[in-house]
Amino acid sequence: MGEPRYGVLGWPVAHSRSPAMMQAAGLRRYQRLPVAPAVFSDTVRALPGAGFCGANVTIPHKEAALALATTASESAREIGAANTLTFGADGEIAADNTDAPGLIAALGDRPRRSALVLGAGGSARAAVWALARAGADVAIWNRTPRRAAGLGARVVDRAVSADVLVNCTSVGLDRSSTPFKDLPLDADGLTQYATVVDLVYNAGATMLIQEAAHRGIATVDGLEILARQGALSFTIWTGQPAPLDSMRAAVRHPESEAQCAPNPFR
Ligand code: NAP
Repeated sequence: MGEPRYGVLGWPVAHSRSPAMMQAAGLRRYQRLPVAPAVFSDTVRALPGAGFCGANVTIPHKEAALALATTASESAREIGAANTLTFGADGEIAADNTDAPGLIAALGDRPRRSALVLGAGGSARAAVWALARAGADVAIWNRTPRRAAGLGARVVDRAVSADVLVNCTSVGLDRSSTPFKDLPLDADGLTQYATVVDLVYNAGATMLIQEAAHRGIATVDGLEILARQGALSFTIWTGQPAPLDSMRAAVRHPESEAQCAPNPFR
């Protein structure tokens, strides 16, 4: 048995910065695993036989990952999605969700008695669960309000003030247009929050993060969230504390990524 293998399962996954981050943490054989939904379960079940000890999971597989696991953590079960799989002996597949504790870790000791979550997709579900679990009064706004119902937060039709604003929509990915035309607040509306978190990341700061920082508001960007959830996955797999500073540097400079074999079964 050679050096353990790890990867990130997604479709598409070419954009992922996880390989650079996990290689910087010392998991040298960590690679992208582009897997179409139709072959997800069969591929995951074959990974241990090819030397894989674990995998991260991203869009669109997080729910399927939980469904095929043989055991699941409380967070994964209650959120209904897994982003970390660990392969044990005898075909055991353990599912975890590190998106939720990663958000709380990234907030550190900033006030979070109340929060407004924007969005109602997979990342919003994890954010609502994490913040409510941490004792926050959580409100949720979504473009399609009926999707926000039943997620464990108070559904609102406008931006209510809170300690923390968390953008869990995909608005802001396109840096050429203002995110505020699609969100329930304008840039000055950001001053209702002590901290602004944007899960979206692209090259450089998103406009939401830039406008918040410009107004002196504390910010947590999507790359910090990515590093935090990755650090927790690293610890689940290795039992060791994660080298968070190296991981942060790698997500901000993904060109450091080593070239890995594209075929996971080679
Ligand atoms: P998702 O499940 O596809 O949900 C997308 C959400 O965005 C939905 O609430 C959707 O609203 C909303 N939305 C999309 N286009 C919109 C528009 N033009 N105006 C208003 N709302 C719009 O996605 P997800 O998995 O939650 O991810 C959301 C974002 O977070 C993505 O950009 C993803 O890359 C990022 N993310 C980052 C990290 C990280 O580690 N930093 C982790 C997870 C996700 P409707 O319900 O109305 O369609």
